[in-house]
Amino acid sequence: MNEKNVAKKILKEIFQMARDLGREVRFMDVCGTHEDTITRGGIRALLPENVKIIAGPGCPVCITPVEDIVAMMEIAKKKDMIVTTFGDMYRIPTPMGSFANLKQEGYDIRVVYSIYDSYKFALKEKKLVVHFSPGFETTTAPTAGILAEVWEKGLENFKIYSVHRLTPPAVEFLIEEGTNFDGLITPGHVSSIIGVRGWEYLTRRYKIPQVVSGFEPLDVLLSILLLLKMLREDHVEIENEYTRGVRYEGNTAAQKAIEEFFEVKDAKWRALGVIPKSGYFLRKKYEDLEIRTFVDVEIPELPDLEAGCRCGEVLRGLILPTECPLFGKVCTPQYPVGPCMVSYEGTCQIFYKYGSLTG
Ligand code: SF4
Repeated sequence: MNEKNVAKKILKEIFQMARDLGREVRFMDVCGTHEDTITRGGIRALLPENVKIIAGPGCPVCITPVEDIVAMMEIAKKKDMIVTTFGDMYRIPTPMGSFANLKQEGYDIRVVYSIYDSYKFALKEKKLVVHFSPGFETTTAPTAGILAEVWEKGLENFKIYSVHRLTPPAVEFLIEEGTNFDGLITPGHVSSIIGVRGWEYLTRRYKIPQVVSGFEPLDVLLSILLLLKMLREDHVEIENEYTRGVRYEGNTAAQKAIEEFFEVKDAKWRALGVIPKSGYFLRKKYEDLEIRTFVDVEIPELPDLEAGCRCGEVLRGLILPTECPLFGKVCTPQYPVGPCMVSYEGTCQIFYKYGSLTG
């Protein structure tokens, strides 16, 4: 059977399940890549009226605190250094400008695809290299891998500024806050590191069905079907649709590396606030790898968002980007008002790109 026919078959079953349920259900995705698949594939428009998909905080760059971005920019002004970060972080707006603005002022800010590129700069150049390091578990694992090499080599001119975050605590935070959803389309990338095991407690504690999902449109459709089946049969568990990429126990070597370098503490998420046990911070033993150990800057509390930006509601799945009055008028990827419009994983940018398919 070709993919189109498989999709039709899954959709037929989704419609049947939705009819059997006879009530509105809302499933949340918490991954920019899932949101991209859903929006680009026009999946919302294909689903029955009573099956809604909402997008949660799936964009690590969007939730990186303003204070940390500004602190990194101030540190860059204090000491001669190369600052590296990812292309979307480079453009993220703050009340004090962006890394891109800093580059225009003549500071050595470089865009990299991975922390490995930054590490190569440090090997090649004598100058201090600081990687401003955002990302969820999937990105924290390679960071830990590079730090292991840096540590082993005793490389003194490479540091990071860690703004890594854990995803399950953010989902738990939304549940505790009262965000209303009936099932989770659980991110495959993060799960490849933390495993199905890393998410199980949410299902046990909050009776939320989950399906660890791959990233093809068929993966997402199948995950929606599996969630509906669980709801219809009143059988709440966590299933793994993405068996080709995710094991129950996850990547234990990566988990060990993360555990070696990082400890978990409460951390701020932009537009969401402080989330308990949601941030990866370098352990005391490895404090020499963290730039904040050497350069201290005082940053006053800053507004998370520009007036009128509704990223906080977008990240909570409370509104779709198209419900923000600034969407597509004042706020576009070229002239972003909020972080959700900058990152390719940001829900607003995804909706802007594939707006006609959002359903
Ligand atoms: Fe913020 Fe722009 Fe998204 Fe509106 S469209 S929520 S202003 S990022």
